[in-house]
Amino acid sequence: MKELNIRAVCRAICVGTAFLLMLLCLPSSAFAELRVVASLPTLGAVVREIGGPDVTVETMALPTQDPHFVDPRPDYILKLSRADLLVYNGMELEIGWLPPVQKGARNSKVLEGGTGALDASKFIEPRNVPKTKIDRSLGDIHALGNPHYLYSLPCVLRVSKGVADKLSELDPEHADAYRARYDAFKKKADQTIETARKRFASLPESQRSIVAYHDSMVYLFDWLGLDQMATVEPKPGISPSPSHVSTLVAQMRVSKPSWIVQEVWQPRSASKKIADLTGSKLVVLPVFPDKDEDLIAFFERMLAAF
Ligand SMILES: [Zn+2]
Repeated sequence: MKELNIRAVCRAICVGTAFLLMLLCLPSSAFAELRVVASLPTLGAVVREIGGPDVTVETMALPTQDPHFVDPRPDYILKLSRADLLVYNGMELEIGWLPPVQKGARNSKVLEGGTGALDASKFIEPRNVPKTKIDRSLGDIHALGNPHYLYSLPCVLRVSKGVADKLSELDPEHADAYRARYDAFKKKADQTIETARKRFASLPESQRSIVAYHDSMVYLFDWLGLDQMATVEPKPGISPSPSHVSTLVAQMRVSKPSWIVQEVWQPRSASKKIADLTGSKLVVLPVFPDKDEDLIAFFERMLAAF
């Protein structure tokens, strides 16, 4: 009797171990959704919009952080080590902080060229690609063109299509759901894109000329039919000198732009001074969605700031 019990226990242990081994050998996708990491908040929001409950997404940079300069925190490395997909801005915007995180994660999928590394800039038409050889004297110029396309909803829509295709490739079982969520998003986005175009097109010609702090608004202005007449920074990443400020003020007194637009992380003293001297309005634009904020709600909030 006792022997029988021992044998039964042994058999139970064997069956249990076999079952556990079987579970461990199953591909992880049989249990969990796709694990995605996004470098910037807008990209995280795109993945949430298209991936829905079929993915988990974590975002690295905060919406108030300058995307050129983000602290490569150790928890980013941990997140990326477990990720199936990394979605990043590209065009060298994150060059100062993302490559060390990718390297530290020791996950070949998310290294450049890996199956799970998606450079979102390949879905847009780059602007301001330098035609001549660049060097540091020109300021913080991005060699592959202006990387700030995420401030434009038409660009974000193109990225969303690319993300839907990539998610379908990695997780074909849910391809129909990714496609359906993209179609639903496109419908809403097209409406917001058109409404905003009409609103800015109805402004008098003189009001459609704008000063930007950093050279980061061109894609947004392309969408809205606005014209960037100058930047507060004399060169990208270089703080304005008093002489640059006075030249700019003189220029603005002639062409009378209605707005000076800047991101939340840029210093405000120079822009405020210029606004006071010229009567232009300083707009501190939200350029990235808050945590869990819906993309359309975010773009509506951005446009309301004008
Ligand atoms: Zn820049």
